[in-house]
Amino acid sequence: MRKDFYIFRHGETDMNAAGQFQGQTVDAPLNEKGRMQAVKLAENLKNSGLEIVFSSPLKRAFETAETVAKALDIPLKTNRCFIEGNLGVIEGRKKETLTQDERTIFSQWAKLDNQFQDVHFQGGESKRQILNRTISGLKELLSQPYQKIGIATHSAVLRFLLLYLGKKQHDIPNGAVFHIVYEDGRFYLADKEKILLLSCCAPCSCAVVKTLSEARQDFSVIFYNPNIRPLAEYEKRRDENKRVCELYQVPFIELEYDNERWCDITKGLENEPERGKRCSLCFYMRLKRVMEYAKENGFTAVASVLGVSRYKNLDQVNDMAERAAKETKFPYLEIEGRKNGMQVLRAQLIKELELYQQTYCGCKPR
Ligand code: SF4
Repeated sequence: MRKDFYIFRHGETDMNAAGQFQGQTVDAPLNEKGRMQAVKLAENLKNSGLEIVFSSPLKRAFETAETVAKALDIPLKTNRCFIEGNLGVIEGRKKETLTQDERTIFSQWAKLDNQFQDVHFQGGESKRQILNRTISGLKELLSQPYQKIGIATHSAVLRFLLLYLGKKQHDIPNGAVFHIVYEDGRFYLADKEKILLLSCCAPCSCAVVKTLSEARQDFSVIFYNPNIRPLAEYEKRRDENKRVCELYQVPFIELEYDNERWCDITKGLENEPERGKRCSLCFYMRLKRVMEYAKENGFTAVASVLGVSRYKNLDQVNDMAERAAKETKFPYLEIEGRKNGMQVLRAQLIKELELYQQTYCGCKPR
């Protein structure tokens, strides 16, 4: 059985524009811009073949769904599984008014990883509760006699659902739509990603490059590693990485070698141990630059192999990717490089392709 879900965020409200938390109790209608976004969304969905729309009962989602349903001449029903997350005591307020404790909860609650699943504001819902009801709502719809189903919902619901499907996206624009498929007993994102994969070296990226290319994923490899010293070592790793990309016919992009800038950014942290503060900044600098490049060059997500090596702290890489993704408003995709046989494949390819293996991470004291 296959079902196609087109799940979209409502148009803008005055509270969105003012930066206020809406949640469930504040039921603001769409503003002028929001109504225009709903019309645009309906146009985008015109040829999707949608047969019905289910909407969160809140005005902003329902008005958006109504615009779509009318334009496509299809029925509209409400479903509480897709209502916005309950933000408890912070609903109606702005971020600046949060207490220190509430700020801590907010940063944990908004974090796009599997930590802090049960954190919630006083009187509100946790990430786990929001995701669980969203998934049960989707599962309920599997028994409906429709093949293509629209869902009008909200940003927190979408963020946690996308995270569950492997995509970290902090910024969900009003009116954004995502195509999710249920097939062979699982949900997956149907939107074709164009991934920009940040690679630090051939040994860390070879298994991921081979796996993605065999899966016919649309992706390019980018080499942005101004942390590597000396230049001859940088060139050696770059050339090896290029060789792997040529073998699997994957486009290879090299960005500037701005080692001076890297040194400025990490100044004062020269004596930090590996996995310490210097590494956090090093990951953050590289990921942010690559996200900026991806944004300007038609990619839809950035991924990296910076956490593939067992010498690296994967949580540290993911935290920095999340920080960079938040600042650039560009999605980061976590790609499997360690589990599910990837380490075995990596070791096998290193041997088979006789890849050059460096003896240190990248930076060396001057
Ligand atoms: S040890 Fe590696 S990750 Fe850490 S700062 Fe140096 S080059 Fe960057």
